Amino acid sequence: MAKARAVVQVGDKKFEMQQFDLPRIGDDDALMRVEACGICGSDVDQYDGKLNGLLSLPMIPGHEPVGVIEEIGAEAARRWNLKAGDRVVAEPARGCGHCGACKRGDSRNCRIGRAGTKISVCGFIPTTIPPALWGGMAEFMYLDPEIALHKVASEIPPEVAALYQPVAAGISWAHRVPGTKIGDTVVIFGAGQRGIACVAAAHQAGASRIAVIARRQSERRLKLAKEFGADAAIYADEDVAAQVFELTGGEGADVVVDVTAETMTPIAQAVDIARPGGTIILAGVKGPNAAIPNLKNDRIFAKELTIRGVKNADHDSFAIAVKMIESGKYPFAKMHTHSFPLGDLELAIKTLAGRVAGEYAVSVSLDPAM
Ligand SMILES: [Zn+2]
Ligand SMILES: [Zn+2]
Repeated sequence: MAKARAVVQVGDKKFEMQQFDLPRIGDDDALMRVEACGICGSDVDQYDGKLNGLLSLPMIPGHEPVGVIEEIGAEAARRWNLKAGDRVVAEPARGCGHCGACKRGDSRNCRIGRAGTKISVCGFIPTTIPPALWGGMAEFMYLDPEIALHKVASEIPPEVAALYQPVAAGISWAHRVPGTKIGDTVVIFGAGQRGIACVAAAHQAGASRIAVIARRQSERRLKLAKEFGADAAIYADEDVAAQVFELTGGEGADVVVDVTAETMTPIAQAVDIARPGGTIILAGVKGPNAAIPNLKNDRIFAKELTIRGVKNADHDSFAIAVKMIESGKYPFAKMHTHSFPLGDLELAIKTLAGRVAGEYAVSVSLDPAM
């Protein structure tokens, strides 16, 4: 029987290469040959053990997969409108279709995990649930009927297509959820892959002024953000408010998006720099017990701000992300800085996390064929 190699997380900061039987594909499911799998901040947290409350090890990580349909059942082909040989990307979260959230059309908040799991997201389902191949850090990934897929043009290099999740997040956070309009000023805290994707999305939405704020060591990322449409790059240790008010003629920003991890400073600054009636999107994972220093609380009601938390992208944002990547309008290939073989997942994660001296990473992916 044919087998697939896969990286399996067996403990905190502990990976093992294992082999699994390829599943028998029925009428209603499919098998994907993984060409690339993007890595994001939650992969770093998963590796570090920070998500242990959600995880049931052992599991194959990887929730940002790009691949080619290797085998597909007749009913699955009809329902997904796909055939063998098509290149696809997968949405990470899958709904059960039956709980309250799914019935409301909100499958991102589905509360029914697979047996023994607390969340039903690819890359977070244990290998003890057959057919084990639930994650993208493998040669093959199993596509069950609940997964949502988007077809991607085969001319797009897989490592560029693998940016679909940061791009979808940018579309959700900097355009669709805040309702960014032509002529708006958008300020983005963070210049990693999601921050840069927010710049592209705000630019595509017609924002007339876009400012990005990041740490001084992210100078190259800030430069790259300008290639995606940012007008101003501000270092986090500068007087951010003064620069934003100068940029906006004293008005403040229509939309502020915070995608930074851990630091709370941008939240207080966002309340300062948003215009009256403005919108603040909070999408950065800050960890437990985080307090917001210097928050001028009364400005929230005095300026009648809308503050909205957003997690991952919704279905339409994924569909738009694929079109935006295919359009070639933005230089997404420049965001991709590193590819690693399966066996180097640990190095790939450390590279993305900035833990490898001398390496500058924006977007990192795994390539199982390497
Ligand atoms: Zn991710
Ligand atoms: Zn559900």
